[in-house]
Amino acid sequence: MIYLLKNIECYCPEYVGAKDVLIAGDRIYKMTEPNSHLMEGPAVNSIAGHGLLAFPGMVDGHVHIIGGGGEDGFTSRLPEINRNDVLSAGVTTVVGLLGADNRTKNLNALLAKARALASQGITTFIYTGSYTLPMITMTGDVTDDMVLIDKVIGAGEVAISDHRSSHPDLKDLLELATKTYLGGLISGKAGVVHLHVGDGKSGLRLLTQLLAESDLPIQQFLPTHMNRNQRLFQQAIDYTRAGGNVDLTSGEIDGIPVPDAVQAFIKNDVNLQRVTISSDAGGSSPTGKIGSIKSLYLDVIDSIVQKKLSPELIFPLVTRNAAQRIGLYPRKGTLSEGSDADILITDKNYQIVKVFSMGKLVVDKGEILEEANNAT
Ligand code: ZN
Repeated sequence: MIYLLKNIECYCPEYVGAKDVLIAGDRIYKMTEPNSHLMEGPAVNSIAGHGLLAFPGMVDGHVHIIGGGGEDGFTSRLPEINRNDVLSAGVTTVVGLLGADNRTKNLNALLAKARALASQGITTFIYTGSYTLPMITMTGDVTDDMVLIDKVIGAGEVAISDHRSSHPDLKDLLELATKTYLGGLISGKAGVVHLHVGDGKSGLRLLTQLLAESDLPIQQFLPTHMNRNQRLFQQAIDYTRAGGNVDLTSGEIDGIPVPDAVQAFIKNDVNLQRVTISSDAGGSSPTGKIGSIKSLYLDVIDSIVQKKLSPELIFPLVTRNAAQRIGLYPRKGTLSEGSDADILITDKNYQIVKVFSMGKLVVDKGEILEEANNAT
């Protein structure tokens, strides 16, 4: 299918003004000045873009795609996420992972679900492992999982500073990070160690200790839930100053909501290129709160509308930066010639109007299109 988005204001995620955008197959083929008439023809579906804004489809780096285990007995086990919820939230790439429950939920099911979502038009990857060490893996070894299974881009979410963790020590974490790093080198993937940081007293201490005592690059690590309380948030500021990347969780209400957190980062001169936001969708918390994938975009809108942050400033946190963290940029996280045609289109009030995922129109007039409608 070939689509021409005509005269649409583009955030790539940097603002480049109005453009004509030609989508051919699953890629953005051309971006030109508007009304260039170079690309029209009977085979092209033209879409009037005047009054609309185009952003890269969002990359959500932390999604419990098979649902978390729940933390209140078997009846609290959470269901799998579905295609429509992901795409209608403006998310076109997800990284799936296990949470605290690696007993009734497992990596085989996670990989199968990632493949199912991929066949439904969403770009998917997974982390091997889960909360506890020693790591559970599919092949018996973290490095092998990364090298042999295309969808595995790193290890996580490994819990530190949390009562639900296995309380790993420095040696445990270093061994895991080294194996993941090696897997990344061999397979040409990001090799990220994605750390769940809990409410425990020690915060980021174990990670900073590891970085001080090893030669692993700081960018290999991505600690998340950094806005869950004030103490940890302060550590996040210090950690970015040391060159580290941090991830915030959207929909946070007990700690520091994302719009407030981003505003505080700006006040503290934090380099926002080091910051990403993910939803923790399908995950549960000890308070019984369940993460929703919709919260990602809601926090983006609140940052723009309530905190008056420019779209150029907030969107990279859910597009370019998020893609960079997992080694997918510029294939993902940008509107550029040659990039995948994952495009989020909104009206001037940032309400989602259309979504393209891998060149297929999956949301139109704000409504999800069922799979059968875009099978070609
Ligand atoms: Zn977590």
